[in-house]
Amino acid sequence: MVDFSMYEEATPSVFASKCPTCGTLYHPAPMVCPKCNTRRDPSGVIYSAWEQVALEGKCRLLTWTRVWNLPEGYDVKYLLFGIAELENGLRASGRLLVDDPETGMTLYAKAGVVKTKGDRELYGLMFDRTP
Ligand SMILES: [Zn+2]
Repeated sequence: MVDFSMYEEATPSVFASKCPTCGTLYHPAPMVCPKCNTRRDPSGVIYSAWEQVALEGKCRLLTWTRVWNLPEGYDVKYLLFGIAELENGLRASGRLLVDDPETGMTLYAKAGVVKTKGDRELYGLMFDRTP
């Protein structure tokens, strides 16, 4: 049997880090959990690694803003950014892919190309109307 899954392109994801002690989700991950002071060791050598939880799925838009003065690397006039609350309670900021955002609207978080640097694509969190 041939396993075709190995030919599929890896789907990029944006992850939150879960504190192994108290279970709080963070994005971006702190070096020390503000709630229970558990240390995060990116190498996983001294302290246990924090579980990576994909930031995807249904969320509610809490607030949003339009940004006009963009740094180098963006090829658009302005970008919409929002802060949304995911169903797991995590609040994360990301780019809004809707033209007419409304506070409280239901959106879906997913990973997308936020900017290109030369021939490299950088992924970040995005919010869209559809999953
Ligand atoms: Zn903690």
